[in-house]
Amino acid sequence: MSRARVLLISPPAPKSNTTVIPDLGLGYLATALRKADYTVKICQAERDFQRRMIHERTRDFSPNLFGIKIFSLESHSAGETIAELAREYPHVPIIAGGPHVSIVPPADLFQQFPALTYGIRGEAEISLPLLTNAMMGGTGPDLSMIPGLVYRTDNGVRSNPLVLHKNLDDFGFPAWDLIDPRNYDDRWFFWARDYPGAPILATRGCPYHCTFCAQNVVTGKEVRRRSPEHIIEELNHLYESYGIRNFDFIDDHLLLGPKFIHKIVWGIINNGKKISWSAGGARLDFLDRELIQLLDRSGCEIIGVGIESGTKRVLDYMRKGLSTDLVKEKMFLINRLSNIKVIGLFILGFPTETAAEVRKTIDFACQLPLHMANFNTYISMPGCEEFDRLIARGEIDAPNWEELGLDAHTYVPKGMTRRQLQSLYRQAILRFYARPSRLLNILWYSRNRIPHLFHKAIRKTFWKS
Ligand code: SF4
Repeated sequence: MSRARVLLISPPAPKSNTTVIPDLGLGYLATALRKADYTVKICQAERDFQRRMIHERTRDFSPNLFGIKIFSLESHSAGETIAELAREYPHVPIIAGGPHVSIVPPADLFQQFPALTYGIRGEAEISLPLLTNAMMGGTGPDLSMIPGLVYRTDNGVRSNPLVLHKNLDDFGFPAWDLIDPRNYDDRWFFWARDYPGAPILATRGCPYHCTFCAQNVVTGKEVRRRSPEHIIEELNHLYESYGIRNFDFIDDHLLLGPKFIHKIVWGIINNGKKISWSAGGARLDFLDRELIQLLDRSGCEIIGVGIESGTKRVLDYMRKGLSTDLVKEKMFLINRLSNIKVIGLFILGFPTETAAEVRKTIDFACQLPLHMANFNTYISMPGCEEFDRLIARGEIDAPNWEELGLDAHTYVPKGMTRRQLQSLYRQAILRFYARPSRLLNILWYSRNRIPHLFHKAIRKTFWKS
């Protein structure tokens, strides 16, 4: 007999300007809760910024518990959602998880979100069912035994140590029926050639120490991998049951660990299904001739690479563990040996960076054989080493969550003005994209999607009006 109902929510995201894809994190949590015999629904309200979706789902489903996922860039909006839920449904507890909960100091969590019942730091596949049992059935462990739990006590806020589960296969597949990829028509915009596509996650954790990134605060410094068989089984499930032909591995680094990636690639080739795939996060270090050709043969069409800067000084300062020579060498090798398209990710206006260095980064991006370049200005975020350095130097105060957004240019390095940074940002985009051959390549590559995008644009126009 099923017990309580849990509504998992990804709140509206008015500032982040990202396209909405099936939320694997919530999908995995739904599977974990179902295994514990709970009934689950997912509401991804960031789709078209629709807060009303949450109320519709809540009315229909009448949940006993809300689980809300918080990203830092969207934490202001998440705060409004939490306050609203607490006001409208005062008897339904609210549990928060997601990257923001992991990176802010535990005591600050309840200051920012006073209506929150509990927070869970790190991964919640184990903690959330335990906590739900404890709250709903009274059969769970004592709160102090739940990994990563953040809770109030008479002596202040406490936070339990995290436990990162080693065997990722134990988590099963995300509850795909709740995040059916065919319902996400916004995805990937020009990134993917085919529609519909689905994201997939093969690994968790990152051993690198880039000073601007807090990823390993959430998923750990040790890389944990699913078994290649489990991954291929999931690809087959999506292929057969949902008609998916295009897969996007959303790992931080899919290409980390040559043995592992060789097994996946051979698994895809031997599986014999005609699919295309991409890896949004890839480091170039491990790419050699053989692997590039194998990736190409298996249907890999796009990789996203964090190049970040075109100068050695800034790369060293951000502890990227990458050199511009290596980037050039690998990029030209990929271009010569395969049809794989590379999307370069760059940060402009990094702390200590000068305007001349930003220009060098723009020059570097324009020289590389990239399919697309994604330029962002630096955002200072708690949980990252760079944030602590800036606070220590007195360059920044605590973040203003309301202001943050990917295109907000909230941080300006010393010696540069905001106007100058904005102008460099515009220059980067103009110089990189204002080349007819590049634009034609992008359009040609994504030509299958043009009717779909056209249809979407019309629908949006009418929806807006
Ligand atoms: S930017 Fe990438 S390589 Fe660097 S720490 Fe973050 S996830 Fe790891």
